[in-house]
Amino acid sequence: MTSPTQPTASHFINGTYVEDTNGAPIDVIYPATGAVIARVHSATPEIIHQALSSAKAAQVDWARMSGTERGRILRRAAEMMRERNHELSVLETYDTGKPYQETSVADATSGADALEYFGGMAATLTGEHIQLGEDWAYTRREPLGLCVGIGAWNYPTQIACWKGAPALACGNAMVFKPSETTPLCALKVAEILHEAGLPAGLYNVVQGLGDVGAALVADAQVDKVSLTGSVPTGAKVYAAAAGSIKHVTMELGGKSPLIIFDDADLEAAVSGAILGNFYSSGQVCSNGTRVFVQKDVLEPFLERLTERLKGVVMGDPQDPAVNFGPMVSARQMQIVEGYIAKGRQEGARLVTGGARAARDGFFLEPTVFADVTDDMTIAREEIFGPVMAVLSFETEEEVMARANATEFGLAAGVFTRDLVRAHRVVAGFEAGTCYINTYNDAPVEMPFGGSKMSGVGRENAKAAIEHYSQLKSVYVRMTELEAPF
Ligand code: NAD
Repeated sequence: MTSPTQPTASHFINGTYVEDTNGAPIDVIYPATGAVIARVHSATPEIIHQALSSAKAAQVDWARMSGTERGRILRRAAEMMRERNHELSVLETYDTGKPYQETSVADATSGADALEYFGGMAATLTGEHIQLGEDWAYTRREPLGLCVGIGAWNYPTQIACWKGAPALACGNAMVFKPSETTPLCALKVAEILHEAGLPAGLYNVVQGLGDVGAALVADAQVDKVSLTGSVPTGAKVYAAAAGSIKHVTMELGGKSPLIIFDDADLEAAVSGAILGNFYSSGQVCSNGTRVFVQKDVLEPFLERLTERLKGVVMGDPQDPAVNFGPMVSARQMQIVEGYIAKGRQEGARLVTGGARAARDGFFLEPTVFADVTDDMTIAREEIFGPVMAVLSFETEEEVMARANATEFGLAAGVFTRDLVRAHRVVAGFEAGTCYINTYNDAPVEMPFGGSKMSGVGRENAKAAIEHYSQLKSVYVRMTELEAPF
C-alpha cells in the first residue's frame, strides 16, 4: 500500500523499521472519512521476542551512561519534535481524527515537553547520604530495567512520550505497543528518538491488539508495565503483572465531576464545561462529564452553553478552521450512540445534539443532557464521547457526597469565586487530579493520575521518577562489627 500516511514498516526495533507480514493485518482508518489510509501488521511472537531482547540488551549500557548524557539525547529529540510539529500534527490528525487546531498545540508539543522535562531531570537523579553516627548509609537510584508501555488511542504521540521520556531518563529501555486503532504516531516518536542519538534498542514499537499487549506483560524479562486504557483492561493487565510482581502504572478511565457553584464566573464555568466535555470530541479520560450546576444558575448555564455550542465548526479535521472532529472509530461512535439512546430512554432532557452529523466519517454532534439523575447510566458509566450530563444540586455537602459516589477517581473540578470553599471542595474530592476554575490542563510539571479504580501511580512531574526507578540502600559500617558469638 502506498500512501503518504503509510509507515516504512509496522514495527520499530533495535533502531530500525522492521516488517513481518506474517502478522495479522491492521487497517488504519481516517476517522473523518472512513477511508483506509495505511495498513500495519500485528507483531508475531518472533517480532515480540526481537523487541524485548534488543531492549534488554541495550538497557545495560544505557544505564551506565551519565544522566547528563541521557538527558541531552532526550532534549535533542524534544527540539526535533518541535521543529517537525506540523508534520507530526498532520499525522496525529490522520491517526485519531482530532482537529489539526488541537493536534498542532496539544500532541507533539506535549510529547516534546515531556522529553525536555525528563531530559533536564535525568542529570539531577541522585540517591541520598544518611549519616548513622560514625556509620553511614547511602541510596542509589537505579532503573527498573525493561519497561513495557501500552497506549490508548486518544493521545498516541503524547502517551508514547509520557511513558518513554521518564523511562529513558531513569536509564530503562522501553517496548511500546500503541493502540491498534492509532498505530502510526508512536513509530515517529521512535524514529525521532533514534535520530536524536538514542542508541538502538532502547525504544522499540510493536503493533498489535490486546493479545500482543498481554504477551508483553507476561514476559519474564519485563520489569514494569505502564498502561493507559480502560478499567477492565487495567484489571487484566494488573493481574497479569502481579504474577511476577512487576511494577505497574495504570492510567485508566473516569467519570469525573465538575461542580459549578452559583457564585462562579459563569462564562469561565461554561468554558470549563466545554473543554472538559467536547475537546477531542469528548475522548479524554479526565473529562468532567458529570457537570453539577447549583440550582439558581442552572438555566442561565444551559442557555449560555447552548449559545456557545453554536461556535462548533465540524469538517475535515486537517482544516485549521475546524474545531470539532469525529469519533476515533465506527465502533466508538456506535458505543456513544448507545449511551445517547440510553439517556433519552432513562428520561434525561436532551438540550442539544444527540445525533450523527450528516457527513462522512464518524461524526457525532456535541450533546448535552439536562435533568440527569445520579442513577442514570449516562451519569454512572464512562462514555468517552461528546456527551455532557448536567445535574443540579442545592448544597455543598450534598454535591460532595454525590460527586464522590463513583468507583472512578481520575479527576474533578470546581468553579467558584470563594477560594476557601474551592480548597475545601478539592480536599474533599476522591480524585487524583483536581482543578479550580479551570479544567483538563495537564502540564508536564504537574503529576497526573487517578485514585480508586482510575489507576495507580502517577505520570509526569517528579512523581513519575518514583515509578521508573528504584532505590538500593547501602549500609556502610565504619565502626567495629560485633556479633553475639
Ligand atoms: P482499551 O483498554 O481498550 O485498550 C488500551 C490498550 O490496551 C490498547 O493498546 C489495547 O490493545 C491494550 N490491551 C487490551 N487488552 C489487553 C490485555 N489483555 N493485555 C494487555 N494489553 C491489552 O482502551 P482504549 O479504548 O484504547 O482507550 C480508551 C480508554 O482509555 C478509556 O477508558 C479512557 O478513559 C482510558 N484512558 C485513560 C487515560 C489516563 O491517563 N488515565 C488516558 C487516555 C485514555
